[in-house]
Amino acid sequence: MSNRPCSRITCGDPAVATLTFVYADSMAVLGPLSAAHEPHAYDLCERHAARTSAPKGWQVVRHRVMGDAAG
Ligand SMILES: [Zn+2]
Repeated sequence: MSNRPCSRITCGDPAVATLTFVYADSMAVLGPLSAAHEPHAYDLCERHAARTSAPKGWQVVRHRVMGDAAG
């Protein structure tokens, strides 16, 4: 398993999530770190994944990435 750094400039934290933009549906999908780097995908650390927001008119779909306390 290879760790990739967060794709945010100035942030060197290890990535824990992958953000993928689905242009056809105007959706930003945040999910577990993908095994391989994909086009239109951005690796994010836990901090940046939590802060991610979609551009206006887009919706963010969050999969369970980090342990969530909901329930
Ligand atoms: Zn980061």
